[in-house]
Parts: sequence; structure tokens; C-alpha cells
Amino acid sequence: MTDPLAPGATIGILGGGQLGRMLSVAASRLGFRCHVYEPGANPPAGDVAHAVTTAAYEDEAALRAFAAGVDVITYEFENIPTAALDLLETLRPIRPGRRALAVSQDRVAEKSFLNGLGLATAPWAPVDDAAGLAAALAAIGTPAILKTNRLGYDGKGQARILAPEDAPAALAAMAGQPAVLEGFVPFSAEVSVIAARGADGQVAAFDPGENVHQAGILRTTTVPARLSARQRTDAVLIAARILNALDYVGVLGVELFVTPQGLLVNEIAPRVHNSGHWTQQGCAVDQFEQHIRAVAGWPLGDGSRHSDVVMENLIGDDVHRVPDLARESGVAIHLYGKGAPRPGRKMGHINRVKPRA
Ligand code: ATP
Ligand code: MG
Repeated sequence: MTDPLAPGATIGILGGGQLGRMLSVAASRLGFRCHVYEPGANPPAGDVAHAVTTAAYEDEAALRAFAAGVDVITYEFENIPTAALDLLETLRPIRPGRRALAVSQDRVAEKSFLNGLGLATAPWAPVDDAAGLAAALAAIGTPAILKTNRLGYDGKGQARILAPEDAPAALAAMAGQPAVLEGFVPFSAEVSVIAARGADGQVAAFDPGENVHQAGILRTTTVPARLSARQRTDAVLIAARILNALDYVGVLGVELFVTPQGLLVNEIAPRVHNSGHWTQQGCAVDQFEQHIRAVAGWPLGDGSRHSDVVMENLIGDDVHRVPDLARESGVAIHLYGKGAPRPGRKMGHINRVKPRA
């Protein structure tokens, strides 16, 4: 695919969660149709997409039919089974490409890639068993965090090791899966950069946001982040390095730790990102439209920030605050159409907006 997609074309999205939902809305505003592929029943994106396939990622016939009905394929989460991607990429372009997925599906591959670019991360070591963990702890020390190598999200698959005697329980929490030990970073803040790269190599970054997590889950993102001009530049340069190195097309999220020694990369996400939701009210073109523009081969839009925004996730029972929030001025409400609230379940988010200070 070299020519820009014309309105009326169909964009295939792997994954039907809230990110797929908001991508579908953005795509429809540009005149595209979205076809969502999701194994689970009644996905949030299904309410707003043109078509939904409910099938497993192992269902070859369903994957072929899905690809036949779309012009380009993108995704809202990085843990798509490799065999499905192997098949799909023979049928339609996948944007962002396979390298971005390979690097972000696997923490060892991700950290090796980042360090190979000269970007700093927390000290880390791969851990497969008790002997490996002992060796890693001897090298890295405590406090540290043990994380499963694959399939982690919202802090799941992680165990803190405050002192060496916590090691056996942390290893047990990995349930036999390969893991990575990371030194605990005493960061002064967490920030993220959401950046995009077009099919022509053009790069645009949104203003970095400052993130607060609770129990491993993003709670709020505030723009502007409290960063010096130098840190701000570093954050954007880091994102641009990664985008170019991956020959990336689409939106990428880069999570960073702010330390006195500079910015460390925590992880990258090859997709629109929760910490970029503020762009919906903070910019003329938000991260969802920017991603759709990139995968459709359109020029990137103007993502400069016109407002100050605090994005707050509505997690679990937070959603019961919606009737009160709906009475507040300056609050934009985004709900994901999910069923019953459960602890830790992202039900929606709000953006509190003020004119740029
Ligand atoms: P998500 O995909 O939701 O961002 P995840 O499960 O992949 O999450 P991480 O980003 O690795 O998890 O970790 C979640 C949070 O835990 C981080 O944002 C940070 O607050 C804390 N954390 C993770 N690793 C470290 C570390 N090495 N030092 C200090 N804090 C950490
Ligand atoms: Mg993270």
C-alpha cells in the first residue's frame, strides 16, 4: 500500500477493547470503516465499528475472511499470537510492522533493543529459574521488580523484591514463565511521550504527560508535565529514535522514568496509549486520529497542545461518579460501554480541560 487510503476504505483492527473503540470513532470521522477482530463476545469497539468478527486468533478461515474485507490492518494491543500475524501479513499490510510487535511483546527483546540504541533503562537481567534469580539479584541488588517476560499489563505478572528473602515468593508468582529482574528506579516522576510516524517518515510528538500509577494501573495523566526544557527535548528525541529504528508507521507510547541521571525508558507500546487520552481534548488532532492518519498513509495532523488537561481513569466503581462528573464544567466524559464494573477494570476516563496556562 503506497497511496493514501481514500474515505470509504476499511481499516482492520485486531482487538476490540476501549482503544479499538476510540480508534474506530476517529476512523469514522475521517470517512473510513472499521472491521474489528476480537475473540471475546460483545467487545467495546463493537458498538461503534462497521463490522466485527468474533473468532479466535487460531481460526485461520476467520483471519482470511477478515483480511479479505479490509485494506490495511492495525491493532490495539501488542500480544497478538505470532501465528496469526504470520498469516495476516501475507494478505494485507500490518501497520505498525512486525518488528515493533516483536520488540514490545517480549521484555528481554525490548530492553536489548533500547539499550542497543544507546537508550538507558533500569538495570535488568533475564531470569528463568531460582539460580538465575539469585545471580540477577547479586548483580542488581534490592529493591527490585520481577516481571514476566511476556503478557504483562496494568502491573499484572509483577512481583516486588524488597529484600532477598522475598525472592522465592516472587519467583513463584511468575508461575514458571520466563521473567526479567529490574532494579527498582527511584524516579522523581513518570512521564510518557506519545509520538507518531507517518508512512513517509514524518514524525510528530505530543507534549509529554506526567503519569501517576496506583497499584500498577495508570490513575492520572497531567499535561503539561513538570519537566525542564532539556528533559522535554530528551523525551521527544528518545521517541523519535525508537520510531526511526523500527521504521514505524502509527502511534507509539513511550513510558519514561525521570531521574537525576536523566530519562530512563520503562517500556514502549506499539499503539495508542492510555496516557495519550488527554489529547482528545488537548489537541486539534488526537492520538487516535493521528494513528488512523498514519496507517492510512495520510499526512500527520497538528498535535500541538492548546489546553491544559488532567486525564483521570475511571476504574471499577469510579464509574458511579459519572452522574456527578456530568454536572461539572470543563469535564469531558469518555465511557467504554463495558458491563459491570470490577475492581481494576477500566470503565472510562475523564479529561478535565483548562485553557493553556
Ligand atoms: P502497562 O502496560 O499497563 O503500562 P505493565 O504491566 O507493562 O503496565 P510496567 O509499565 O512495567 O507494567 O509497570 C507498571 C508500573 O510499575 C510503572 O508505571 C511504575 O510505576 C512501576 N514500575 C515498573 N517497573 C519499575 C521499576 N523498575 N522501578 C520503579 N517502578 C517501576
Ligand atoms: Mg507500563
